[in-house]
Amino acid sequence: MNAIESASRYFEQAARLMDLSPNMKRLLLTPEREVKVQVAMKRDNGDIATFVGFRMQHNSARGPMKGGLRYHPEVDAEEVLALATLMTWKTAVVDIPYGGAKGGISVDPGQLSEGEKERLTRKFVDEIQDIIGPDTDIPAPDMGTNAQVMAWIVSQYHKFHGFNPACVTGKPLELHGASGREEATGRGVGLLTESLLSKHDRTVNGITVAIQGFGNVGSFTADYLHSRGARVVAISDVSGGRFEPEGIDIPTALAHVRRHGTLSGFETSRSITNEELLELDVDVLIPAALGGVITQDNAGAIRARHIIEAANGPIEPEADEILANRGIEVLPDILANAGGVTVSYFEWVQNRQYFRWDLERTRQELSRTLTRSFDNMWRLATEKHISLRTAAYLMGIGRVGRATVLAGI
Ligand code: NAD
Repeated sequence: MNAIESASRYFEQAARLMDLSPNMKRLLLTPEREVKVQVAMKRDNGDIATFVGFRMQHNSARGPMKGGLRYHPEVDAEEVLALATLMTWKTAVVDIPYGGAKGGISVDPGQLSEGEKERLTRKFVDEIQDIIGPDTDIPAPDMGTNAQVMAWIVSQYHKFHGFNPACVTGKPLELHGASGREEATGRGVGLLTESLLSKHDRTVNGITVAIQGFGNVGSFTADYLHSRGARVVAISDVSGGRFEPEGIDIPTALAHVRRHGTLSGFETSRSITNEELLELDVDVLIPAALGGVITQDNAGAIRARHIIEAANGPIEPEADEILANRGIEVLPDILANAGGVTVSYFEWVQNRQYFRWDLERTRQELSRTLTRSFDNMWRLATEKHISLRTAAYLMGIGRVGRATVLAGI
């Protein structure tokens, strides 16, 4: 099942409960604009390389569209559109005044030099600068992109439109970025793990956790949970997984990745595969790398009690059903990883006011926003006897639908 099929299956489940008319469903699912561009650049050796870039703008009923920019070889139009749709529900679930979009270039960033990555990024901005902007569509980092890429975007955007740092978020602090943005998604995953466990009268202190992916999201999640006393027994990245029954020394793993780029060469008592990590007997499993990693083939073998979807779309719908029948609780991506877009919103607010918050304020506002959204979702799920995912979709779709109707067609 591809990403778009998964996204529409989850949408359908909620739409059925809401009794949405076929016309309303079509309106809410149809993207406002799909853009596909050629991104050509000169390689360091003089060769010409050509890539394909996308910006999918799904919905702007609640405000300017917002969504990350992904550099990954598997980026394609369908996946980017599915992720754009997810952004529409996500910004609505946490009730920030945005719609949803997503972009990407089908490229392996590991094969590019810094200079090549900069030329590629600037060329991509040349192609899409007229459809992005602080009041229309605001990109941000995602897989394979980071604050440096956002710095190139803001610099190139300024060449066309003049100074306007709110045109992109996730920027470096020195270029109007917000303190706390880099850690925000992982910190949010950690905060929401605490919220979920508190509903079961537990704290994260002493629980066992396995995390797939040790990039931006996975590493900050691991750092937060470790600092709160959780035992992170397994971590992984493209180089494979590491397992330590007594708990991995996360600060040492972070230092290793800072020095070497990946976990390759980081020693623990046992090496495991990424597939084995997913099936470990732990309290909390956190997929924080790719989509579609839990399918109907391995859902029966998952032994975690709770799954927090830090990545976008890590569980396929058939697997979701199997997990629900087995009593495994899933905190859905549209809330679980919304910390990043929430602090992106704070960055945009600060840019527009030419005013800077300190880290403490950002963390407090993040915690308040996520906790409030979690409590609303939990209440709805309990009242209606539905899964947390369906409750989150009901909240998101409901808000977008009401905004659409109020504004008029
Ligand atoms: P990243 O590029 O910083 O890190 C990705 C990590 O996954 C790396 O450790 C990489 O080695 C690992 N990885 C890649 N392929 C893998 C594979 N086949 N098996 C196991 N590990 C693999 O990306 P990120 O920003 O941490 O994003 C991770 C996920 O979280 C994505 O699904 C992304 O859409 C989602 N997300 C990110 C943010 C954000 O703010 N960065 C916000 C919301 C959602």
